[in-house]
Amino acid sequence: MVDAKEIMKKDKEYLAAVYSRKPIVVYEGKGAIVKDLKGQEYIDCLSGISVVNAGHTPERLVKAGTEQMRRLWHCSGLYYSVPQTLLAEKLASIAPGALRKSFFCNSGAEAVEGAVKLAMKFAVSEGRTGAGVIALEGSFHGRLALSLTLTGQAKYKKGFGTFANHPGVVHAPAPYCYRCPLSYPDCGVECARKVEDIIKYHTTGDVAAMIVEPVMGEGGIVVPPDGYHAEVQKICHDHEILFIADEVQTGFGRTGKMFAIEHSGVVPDMMTMAKPIASGMPLSACVAKAEILDSAVAGHLFTTGGSPICCAAALATIDVIKKEKLVENAANIGDYFMQQLQELKARSKIVGDVRGKGMILGIEFVKDRKTKEPASIETPKLCYRAWEKGIVIGYMGLHSNIIEITPPLNLTKEDVDLAVKILSESIEDVEQGRVTDETIARYKGW
Ligand code: PMP
Repeated sequence: MVDAKEIMKKDKEYLAAVYSRKPIVVYEGKGAIVKDLKGQEYIDCLSGISVVNAGHTPERLVKAGTEQMRRLWHCSGLYYSVPQTLLAEKLASIAPGALRKSFFCNSGAEAVEGAVKLAMKFAVSEGRTGAGVIALEGSFHGRLALSLTLTGQAKYKKGFGTFANHPGVVHAPAPYCYRCPLSYPDCGVECARKVEDIIKYHTTGDVAAMIVEPVMGEGGIVVPPDGYHAEVQKICHDHEILFIADEVQTGFGRTGKMFAIEHSGVVPDMMTMAKPIASGMPLSACVAKAEILDSAVAGHLFTTGGSPICCAAALATIDVIKKEKLVENAANIGDYFMQQLQELKARSKIVGDVRGKGMILGIEFVKDRKTKEPASIETPKLCYRAWEKGIVIGYMGLHSNIIEITPPLNLTKEDVDLAVKILSESIEDVEQGRVTDETIARYKGW
């Protein structure tokens, strides 16, 4: 058996430090539980960043994947493929409204870039330039050139020169109520109405698309106020701008609906999806109104995009999500989780806000509830304690002061109780100064 210390050492030697790794070598997983190399169990409250919605290694998925692996791994997009066609049909059946046609890629960033690229082609086919794109401040859409430009957080772009400087991209304010000087509902959802000004003052007026995350993920689990998406879409349509919902993080039941945009009753023109679509097999998709993609034939292709194995895994994932009623579980257990977090907030000093929808939940930590100064040092400390005690969580957001809770959707009430107990103890440990730099160093060194 390989040794955890050895893996960490080799990782440092041979892998580029793209992520700063958390000190756990995840070795196996079943349902909502993962085990490390030493056999310690953790409640997975992250799902590999919203990926294993259907849980770790469900039997139905293992069976479908291995059957397809025995039959055919790859055939390229030049030929018809049974799993790919059936998956496109399935996506049309679960996507809202008239979203009917799909194209497939390998990652979320590729799907986002494809959606925007084809929105631009659509605008050109309509006799416009379609040179502008609107995204939100604080958003995350990927790390390729255009998707990184769309991403509304400087920290991801720093040091890459002009790589993330795609022309025509502008940003509108995020619907981030906790840090907004106005208060809902008196504000009249000013953040949505601001999009009109952005178009007027920051674009040529000829904008191909606006892309939004229905619930902002990496930006800090930001749930827009009621009416936000409807207002933004209306403004977009008044200006012939396609409205793209980036469901890469929120799709496939995460928020208690199959797709998060459904909470608002808005049907987007295009929708991007990735992460949980095939439970971690590299697959992404864009589903759109037929007339948009019909104008964009062969516009965005990748040799391995939509491979038979990944599409078979996606069909099985959707099957598991439906048969095991995971969308409903995400809504119910998510509500219960939220109640527990509200109680935790009442007990703690450094919890500034808890928010989310279904099973995408965020806890924002602050040094002081009045000033809302981000607790950027305390939050990672708290995560170390929580890892030690047995839950997998991540911290993120503009100031790295927000804990993201995105467990597999089959989480039980008992899992929630244990996770909240661990979180609560970890918060108390940090508040009492019991998590020191030495604690972290000791833990990092195993
Ligand atoms: N869009 C959103 C909303 C995301 O959360 C992410 C990844 N965190 C991406 C796009 C990019 O996906 P990928 O990492 O698969 O390229």
